Amino acid sequence: MRKAIIAGNWKMNKTPAEAKELVTALAPLVKDAECDVVVCTPAVDFAAVSEAIKGTNIKLGAENVHWKESGAFTGELSADMLKACGVEYVIIGHSERRQYFGETDATVNQRVHAAIKAGLIPIICVGEKKEEREAGYTNPLVSYQTLIALTGLTAEQVAGVVIAYEPVWAIGTGLTATDEQANETIGVIRAAIRSAYGDAADKVRIQYGGSMNPKNAKGLMAQPEIDGGLIGGASLKAEDFSKVVKYNA
Ligand code: PEP
Repeated sequence: MRKAIIAGNWKMNKTPAEAKELVTALAPLVKDAECDVVVCTPAVDFAAVSEAIKGTNIKLGAENVHWKESGAFTGELSADMLKACGVEYVIIGHSERRQYFGETDATVNQRVHAAIKAGLIPIICVGEKKEEREAGYTNPLVSYQTLIALTGLTAEQVAGVVIAYEPVWAIGTGLTATDEQANETIGVIRAAIRSAYGDAADKVRIQYGGSMNPKNAKGLMAQPEIDGGLIGGASLKAEDFSKVVKYNA
């Protein structure tokens, strides 16, 4: 059995004071959650959030990590720096990084290695654009993105990562993949992992992401292949995010 994991992706939102307010409101609402609960926040919020989640079941995540340990990489953060700030998870290869900041499958793979080396759990994002789905490329594309991201890892390391299947056309648009579409594509991703890493595929947690909210979370989470959610917009309000976390309530 895979333990479900619901993670918020705050993107470029929340000052430290707002971040503290949000997680302070969230903590009592999710304290009995059966799934893992993660908030991935801007780096400027790490101190406020890690202080506010002490003694709670909420874990801290980052939204990106560089692949080098240190050096002349202005504006970047290393995995060890994140670790030192109390970060446990890190989103890698989000479609917004791919679209606006030149992220490639190869750099995703480098970041994944750096994260794992430092003891962080990567949340690796894959997913097709609208035109790619319409052209019938979804399955080979998400399989390729996944296998390149995992290249060079051992089966044991693969078993510990989290994958987020995020159809790009569903992110921030209010459009959601149907329960069946999301389940089917996540099944394809798991089959690709099985082809390269065998039984590790049964342990990898694969989330759905793309306009997941309190209304559609229950249906998505009832699908056998879906092990959680990566939540953007609905993670910015404590009540909404808590309802996604407690999708069965
Ligand atoms: C995301 O940013 O990963 C995401 C899924 O956003 P939203 O929930 O707003 O579509």
